[in-house]
Amino acid sequence: MNTTMRRVLPAGVLLAAASLAPLNAHMTAEETLYGYSAESSRIERQWEEKMRAIPDAKNLRAYMERLSARPHNVGSDYDRDNAEWILAKFKEFGLDAHIETFSVLFPTPKERLVELVEGGPHFTAKLQEPVVTEDRTSGQTEEQLPTYNAYSIDGNVTGPLVYVNYGVPEDYDVLERHGISVKGAIVIARYGHSWRGIKPLVGAEHGAVGCLIYSDPRDDGYSGGPVFPKGPWRPRDGVQRGSVQDSAVFMGDPLTPGYGATADAKRVPLKEAQSLTKIPVLPISYADAQPLLEAIGGPAAPRDWRGGLPITYRLGPGPAKVHLKVISNWGMKMLYDVIGKIPGSSEPEQWILRGNHHDAWVNGAEDPVSGMVTVLEEARSMGELLKQGWKPKRTIIYCAWDGEEPGLLGSTEWVETHVDELRAHAVMYVNSDSNSRGFLELEGSHTLEHFMNDVARDIQDPETKLSAWKRAQLREIANATSSEERRELRERHDLRLDMLGGGSDHAPFINFAGIASLGIGYGGEDHGGIYHSIYDDFYWYTHFSDYDFVYGRALSQTGGTAVMRMADADLLPFQFTDFADDVKLYLREVEKFANQQRDEIQERNTKILEGTFEASADPRETWVTPKKEELPPHLNFAPLDNAVEAVTRSASDYQKAFERANANGGAAFSSVLLRDVNELLMQSERKLTTPEGLPGRFWYKHQLYAPGAYTGYAAKAIPAVRESLEQKKWKEAEQAAARVAQVLENEAALIADAAGKLSAAAK
Ligand SMILES: [Zn+2]
Repeated sequence: MNTTMRRVLPAGVLLAAASLAPLNAHMTAEETLYGYSAESSRIERQWEEKMRAIPDAKNLRAYMERLSARPHNVGSDYDRDNAEWILAKFKEFGLDAHIETFSVLFPTPKERLVELVEGGPHFTAKLQEPVVTEDRTSGQTEEQLPTYNAYSIDGNVTGPLVYVNYGVPEDYDVLERHGISVKGAIVIARYGHSWRGIKPLVGAEHGAVGCLIYSDPRDDGYSGGPVFPKGPWRPRDGVQRGSVQDSAVFMGDPLTPGYGATADAKRVPLKEAQSLTKIPVLPISYADAQPLLEAIGGPAAPRDWRGGLPITYRLGPGPAKVHLKVISNWGMKMLYDVIGKIPGSSEPEQWILRGNHHDAWVNGAEDPVSGMVTVLEEARSMGELLKQGWKPKRTIIYCAWDGEEPGLLGSTEWVETHVDELRAHAVMYVNSDSNSRGFLELEGSHTLEHFMNDVARDIQDPETKLSAWKRAQLREIANATSSEERRELRERHDLRLDMLGGGSDHAPFINFAGIASLGIGYGGEDHGGIYHSIYDDFYWYTHFSDYDFVYGRALSQTGGTAVMRMADADLLPFQFTDFADDVKLYLREVEKFANQQRDEIQERNTKILEGTFEASADPRETWVTPKKEELPPHLNFAPLDNAVEAVTRSASDYQKAFERANANGGAAFSSVLLRDVNELLMQSERKLTTPEGLPGRFWYKHQLYAPGAYTGYAAKAIPAVRESLEQKKWKEAEQAAARVAQVLENEAALIADAAGKLSAAAK
């Protein structure tokens, strides 16, 4: 997977004066690094500069050519071959490396059929991406996985077709207003606006018996520009493969929920596996979708539901009737995670982890190889520094994950297997998944917000020669939609990090194990439509994306700088004033959402009473007025407000202690007392988790962020409260607020403890 999410600051959220940076100083190259003494900072900066000079675009290109030379999905020969090649590279670079294997459920297609049996001329979908002559690897048909959605259950169904737009819950509300039910129907949804697994999930909840997902040219095709091979966009027969595993409860291997899929692990019987879909589902191209959509009758689709095909989009149901058959081979496959270590010299028990996946749906030059190669080049750079005498304080672990595409399998099974060690030793995990040209994405744990901003200030953007930070800031100003937002972007010392969602290997680290995590990558300039198709390959990448690999080099520099700076710091560079400010913002959003929801229900009820809906509907068309809803009670968020204040106070105490320790060249940073502070800092993200996890979602233990159960990729803040509100479970929302408040009180206590210990070290 690879998620390109843009950060959006909610409009109308007033910024407290406290959010305007305590540190408003301009960062210069000579400035002391956060968490370092003047002397250790000077030495660190020299090593970092040496590191940033090492990554070489030629190597990135050569690694990509090798890794994407053949299809390398889970279970394929070349997947294993790549893992062994990465292992050899890690060893050659001087890392202590090994391969760790897991055995997981990974279905592959056996039978696939989509045919229009009524309502139009009989039509059988092609379900095949054609070979493109100039793109040599597109002809490796023997090794390509057919187009499918992994973890769809087997099924053989026939039903009338209903067009459901993106297939998210709100779309079904619109259908209901038109009096349209999907019971017994096959739904056809376009890709986008949610993780793909949400579409069959929501369809099944509404009674559909099957689901087709297609790439509409408006979102992913010729509306964007010339299609492949003339341009980068999705051609008419291009298909997006992908997993549809139900990830709301847990991620990873469906047969080993919450524990590692080791050779001797006890497995859930296949028929009891909870994360398979409830209905059969298959992805199709827009060429295959057009005759099906054309045969749908019924009312015309609302304006914003219409896609880019030259047809009238209608809702149905029928008269188009579709026969859908999906049968898989339900085999077990081996995963090959490659793990390479650089032992720490003075704090070997504290681990800094960095990873990217190596498996792809097909050749995967962009996803994941464009990210994987930067991790390799980063590891080579570290190896070079070791030869020159650099000794990282902490242990650095480079990871090349297998099985990310089907459901974060390699990273999840590894984290689940080693969760106790990780909770004891892991300081930070840095993830990437793919890379292209443009702007540095800043996402991750907010305890690392200040740290990551500082890293971005030290990386040069290859195109503009601005710092990656400056370019990101100016672009956000350009995209901002309110003067408040622009003011914050100009005045706040650090850019806010986006929350990490669900789409990549950071998820088991942050959501399951409570390890502070970052997601890094450049993007925003290269567009196209080859995602999860046979055309995501070396030919496409070297014609239409970062073909001179200058952004690949920048990503190696970015990841390398983050890893080194965390590994060498005297005081772990976690910072809490940004964190407190972000949590406050998220709490305001949740409170605002609750009020809005109340107002909306009230307004709708009024409209129902006064007959607004009936009066404005066309009597010749079907219109179903919504039912009156009970007004939600006013909820008590006071415990959360108090807890956020406690966090803010502790954060400010910690900052004061930090400044005392930082005075006079930071001599305090060599105190042995710092060990205890670092131990607490390392646990600060863990404190944000609870053993039982979110309601009904045991695997998601982090109480501040989780991918939405009905959005999949996009993260929700304070999810236990937010999702209870969305599901209109008012009592649960209030109970969740009290629980999250307790978690934040505990976090405030940990920060206060760290502040006290740091003050003692500064005496
Ligand atoms: Zn990926």
